[in-house]
Amino acid sequence: MSGSSARLDAIQSVKHYQAPAGSIAEGERPGEIFGQNVFSRSVMKARLPKSVFKALMSTIGEGKPLDPTVADTVASAMKDWALEKGATHYAHVFYPLTGLTAEKHDSFFEPDSTGASIAEFAGKTLMQGEPDASSFPNGGLRDTFEARGYTGWDVTSPSYILENTNGNTLCIPTIFVSWTGEALDHKTPLLRSQQAMNTHAQRVLRLFGHSDVDTVVSFAGAEQEYFLIDRSFYFARPDLQSSGRTLFGAHPPKGQEFDDHYFGAIPDRVLAFMIDAEREMFKLGIPAKTRHNEVAPGQFEIAPVFEKANLAADHQQLLMVTLGRVAQRHGMEVLLHEKPFKGINGSGKHVNFSIGNNNQGNLLFPGDTPHDNAQFLVFCAAVIRAVHLHGGLLRASVASAANDHRLGANEAPPAIMSIFLGAQLADVFDQVAAGGATASKERGTLKVGVDTIPHLPADAGDRNRTSPVAFTGNRFEFRAAGSSQTIAGPMVVINTMLADSLDFIATTLESTVASGTEFNVAVQQVLQSIIANHGASVFNGNGYSEAWQQEAAARGLLNLRNSVDALPQYNTPEAKELFGKYGVLNERELASRYEVALEQYAKSVSVEARTSLEMGKTIILPAAMRYQTELAANAAALASIGYSFDSSALDEVTSGVTALQGALKNLKAALEHDGGHDVAGEAQYALEALIPPTNAVRAATDQLEDVVADNLWPLPTYQEMLFIL
Ligand code: ADP
Ligand code: MG
Repeated sequence: MSGSSARLDAIQSVKHYQAPAGSIAEGERPGEIFGQNVFSRSVMKARLPKSVFKALMSTIGEGKPLDPTVADTVASAMKDWALEKGATHYAHVFYPLTGLTAEKHDSFFEPDSTGASIAEFAGKTLMQGEPDASSFPNGGLRDTFEARGYTGWDVTSPSYILENTNGNTLCIPTIFVSWTGEALDHKTPLLRSQQAMNTHAQRVLRLFGHSDVDTVVSFAGAEQEYFLIDRSFYFARPDLQSSGRTLFGAHPPKGQEFDDHYFGAIPDRVLAFMIDAEREMFKLGIPAKTRHNEVAPGQFEIAPVFEKANLAADHQQLLMVTLGRVAQRHGMEVLLHEKPFKGINGSGKHVNFSIGNNNQGNLLFPGDTPHDNAQFLVFCAAVIRAVHLHGGLLRASVASAANDHRLGANEAPPAIMSIFLGAQLADVFDQVAAGGATASKERGTLKVGVDTIPHLPADAGDRNRTSPVAFTGNRFEFRAAGSSQTIAGPMVVINTMLADSLDFIATTLESTVASGTEFNVAVQQVLQSIIANHGASVFNGNGYSEAWQQEAAARGLLNLRNSVDALPQYNTPEAKELFGKYGVLNERELASRYEVALEQYAKSVSVEARTSLEMGKTIILPAAMRYQTELAANAAALASIGYSFDSSALDEVTSGVTALQGALKNLKAALEHDGGHDVAGEAQYALEALIPPTNAVRAATDQLEDVVADNLWPLPTYQEMLFIL
């Protein structure tokens, strides 16, 4: 029997894997490379005239509008710096609604009249680009006749050099908008939502008597989980290539049962990759920090230190690209899919967030004094109210076909959006709600019901892994985001719903105080009303339990189990009102996002269905039939010499083949009826008519995997992909 198959070839090439030579330059010191390829504050300070530098800093730091007259000067300095760094091209980098990163590259060099080439890069080119990016999804915002899309320089996210052995590129982070100025990307609404949140956070801070309030920003720190597999296996799996996850694969005899991978020693090859990847990230100014093994075999995590949300979002995108690139150098493939392996823990991206500014610090950090505590409780209450009112939107912001495999599958939070406060803080809110101790002014300090919250340790002892929004001492951790998703989506919702709650709180306090109520009494009242009206979103128990599903329903909380149920949250009158009121997304922009997300969902499901059909027909079925033929020949040979034949193996494979053939027929029929609906109909069809027959093909295949002779099995197995590195 010939042993040649994509799978066996892959195993051979893994055996012969040679590690690449180390890439650390002689004399390089780790501390010196951080930000080496970034047009950073210090580079700008050194290269720009003082006035220009000051103008830029007031835009970056305080959100002041950019003075367009400085663009030429900045462009010229940026070009000189980039050329010194070996750049030949520049690219406007933007973040379309696919959730990926897009780049439009242009050469710096243009021929002049003498035929020589000169480096051109004017302020106008820095500020604005017009990529012919008409094939990005836009949900009806750009008809082909008005297909212009513009990129616009985002001053607040620094430009950087992307290295390549054949020449470097200056990358300029940009927004991406239509010719009508409507957002076609994730960055534009993130910047707008940031502004809205700032406005109302400042109002609240002023009411607390601060006279030195400056711009309030949101911060985000994302923990990225991912899988690594040998690239040879990846090439032998068309399903991984087309849909990012395995559409077939029986559970290995040993999976994650022993929990022996979690925080275990990192394999050398993986460590070499991690060090290399971190080094690349350092050069790009990404503050990559922790690394450890995750729960599943082959799964790892990297968590950069938190930054301003807009920068964190850009860095997060760059981090995903960098992980992929560097892994390939090390003969591995990074799997960012939320659920690459059935029955094995999936990957999430926990988005840690807080808000704050220079003068008042982290507003979600409980302070030592009662006054700080009151202010902290107010900001915390804003989050509670926001999640209660707009949990549906938060859920919609992480809805995707891939993330549907994780949420609610007892490895990630349920689809119900609730808040975990921890025992200490929950108790404080209970006291406030009970109104037991009335607010009073004592020795000049403000007192809100409770004397003081005990100083909460930044890493509160009781962690709750089952809650989608967990307070962790000085920030909230939003745990429902998927590993492949941009954090911009959830951050837009978080900023906007906080803007709404802070607006509500400021307005209430203003009018209560105006009607003669003492400020601290007014604070007490608003906290009480928020707990009374929105406390239903607080849940400190086990989010994975069946009891919570029932209790959440009784509390009236949404439980949107799949994307098709979740995405319409973008399409409600409340959503239109919210995003419109705070100038984050107008109705057309919101509708376009809703449409694009549905379209993405339908497309991914349909690609998976088509890949299953193709692989089932051309890879699995032939292998199973070969084995069936072998067994039948064996039966005939034994019969010819008068031996009896135990038909159980042949029966098993025959019934498996029959089941697979039946399942493939059903899937084919379902795919033939695909199409011809509107987007919502497509998504509904994908959920109801494509997913079940795709799953049936898998069930038949996974059964066959346990029956067919190992040397005939064509696809790398879970055992091989997860444990051989
Ligand atoms: P975990 O215990 O949840 O695995 P990690 O240390 O892996 O925690 O990741 C925590 C993440 O939270 C990091 O990205 C960290 O920078 C971020 N973080 C810490 N403090 C804040 C804060 N105040 N605001 C936003 N993010 C924060
Ligand atoms: Mg975490």
